[in-house]
Amino acid sequence: MTMLEMLFLECPACGAPHTDFSFLSFHVSGGEQWSDGEQYAQSPMPSDADKIGQCARCGELFWKENCLRAPAHSLREALDSPGAFSPELRSLAHRVEQAERAGTLIPRCEWQGRPDEHEAEWDELQILDWRGLLDGRIQNTPSQELLIRLNLWRAYNTLKGRPLGESPLRWVAHLASRPGHYLRHLVRRDRLWSKHRPDYLRNLDELDKLLATSDIDSIDSLALRMQAARERGRFALARQLLAQLAQQGCPESYLRPARRMIALRRRGCYLLR
Ligand SMILES: [Zn+2]
Repeated sequence: MTMLEMLFLECPACGAPHTDFSFLSFHVSGGEQWSDGEQYAQSPMPSDADKIGQCARCGELFWKENCLRAPAHSLREALDSPGAFSPELRSLAHRVEQAERAGTLIPRCEWQGRPDEHEAEWDELQILDWRGLLDGRIQNTPSQELLIRLNLWRAYNTLKGRPLGESPLRWVAHLASRPGHYLRHLVRRDRLWSKHRPDYLRNLDELDKLLATSDIDSIDSLALRMQAARERGRFALARQLLAQLAQQGCPESYLRPARRMIALRRRGCYLLR
């Protein structure tokens, strides 16, 4: 069962109060995991994108962990017995209360969602969003940069593995949907993908450096580096990392080639379970 907690936070730039929520608990059912670390589940679960917000009033991008952010019950308590809470929290509680009265509190659905008209290019938007977080508009610690680059990689892989039927050229998509048709080959070289490829490879280089010094659990880090090395065509390094994984007794699913072949057709990497 998924349980959510109602939160309030303020924009670090202009102080506008927003509502938000966090996951108190969640249950993953029917999940699958890919060798780039991407996970899908039928039930709602926390996503990395949710760690970042953009102010609905001034447009500032921010890491939520750097914000003044508190659950609804703490703010109520801060108003009832102010002596027990920090001045910052009391100030947030007052601002939220004022905004609620004035009707200016910004509900989460208005600031964390995406405009519908972008749905068609969703895959590419994901890439542009994550890449935009590396352009210097927000300050990232090494672990925050690692999280951005991992998600950028996963967004590229999703674009790479986009089903043929979703080609922007509809007539090509229609013909290419026929088994054995020669146009399948053309669609596979998605124009979008070739446009992004140089940045995709640059991202993998930077990602590898960050993973090599990260404190991610060593099996996960080795497995991600191994996948990144394969995608960059650095097969000697990939073999070396694979040997280290086997030594550390990693799950068999990382090492099973048959599964890789099936999954390579679906996304730009392979399915683990
Ligand atoms: Zn703001």
